[in-house]
Amino acid sequence: MTLPHPTTPLIDSFGRQIRYLRLSVTDRCDLRCVYCMKAQPDFLPKSELLTLEELEQVASAFIARGVTKVRITGGEPLVRRDVVSLIERLGTRLGKAGSPKGALEELTLTTNATQLPRFAARLVAAGMRRINVSLDTLDPERFARLTRGGRLADTLTGIAAAKAAGLSVKINAVAMKGENEDELPDLIAWAHGQGHDITLIEVMPIGDVGTDRSIQFLPLTAVRERLEQRWTLTPLSDSTGGPARYHHVAETGGRLGLITPLTGNFCASCNRVRLTCTGQLHSCLGREGEVDLRGALREHGVDGLHAALEAAIANKPEAHDFDVSPGAKPSVKRHMAITGG
Ligand code: SAM
Ligand code: SF4
Repeated sequence: MTLPHPTTPLIDSFGRQIRYLRLSVTDRCDLRCVYCMKAQPDFLPKSELLTLEELEQVASAFIARGVTKVRITGGEPLVRRDVVSLIERLGTRLGKAGSPKGALEELTLTTNATQLPRFAARLVAAGMRRINVSLDTLDPERFARLTRGGRLADTLTGIAAAKAAGLSVKINAVAMKGENEDELPDLIAWAHGQGHDITLIEVMPIGDVGTDRSIQFLPLTAVRERLEQRWTLTPLSDSTGGPARYHHVAETGGRLGLITPLTGNFCASCNRVRLTCTGQLHSCLGREGEVDLRGALREHGVDGLHAALEAAIANKPEAHDFDVSPGAKPSVKRHMAITGG
């Protein structure tokens, strides 16, 4: 007789319960953003990736143990073949409160939007309601430079397709010194005009991208001061439990989130973990150290998987270790596209 798999909550040694899993399904991407990867990245051999079935098994183990939110990410998640079938299977777990297999409250996606015209309707049919889209500029030439060859029109068409399909879109923009710094108010005004929330993110020193991070880093404390000379920002108390701190902008009527891993540490309330596309579990984005769930699953089945993820959560670090001072090495060697942003 096989024993039922564990359903006890995953609580780390600092009392934080893990409720949020970010699942990277590929390290590949159709863009090459300057803060995320090198111009010529060495992509992993496909044989190293978890299969879609394994990704589902790992996600299911987390859901059974109290994870209520799963975000599919990458690399660009929508360039992985058949990824929508994984999303459709996970979608069947939405809203199953009281089930011994656990209940998923939200299934979502972070994407660069280029593939959304093909997939937006299927995402909605799978139960997805909200997505995050990364967009750092509305200037086509700057977009091409920052993404090393991408076309702004593709991302804008993808965002329009998502909206038309009924998805609510939040824009994520990485704030970069001397790059899009002058354009941030216009980007915020555009997003709010389109009915989208927008979140600004500080560049994190993740992976070697061939540039000193102190050149890219723009503290959001300074951005916020400048925005406040133009607009009235009122902090909102409703937090999503995530790292963003939200504000209402009176003049645009929209919501603005600020993610400040460097200037405002948010680790105390961290309830998330990240699975790389090769099945390595990172309990902290900003620390080295991983637990090999792929090996545990392949060698010891679902029991081995549960034992490995318990060990990983027990060792979740208290806080990250980012450093963007001039000449500092990346805090972690792996790139964002591998860990999953
Ligand atoms: N390709 C998808 C996209 O761009 O939305 C999903 C993966 S991407 C790695 C996820 C998020 O990570 C994006 O919003 C991107 O801007 C952000 N990101 C990548 N590298 C980063 C870095 N070094 N610092 C801060 N954010 C970063
Ligand atoms: Fe691709 Fe997203 Fe990284 Fe840009 S941020 S290179 S779109 S994975």
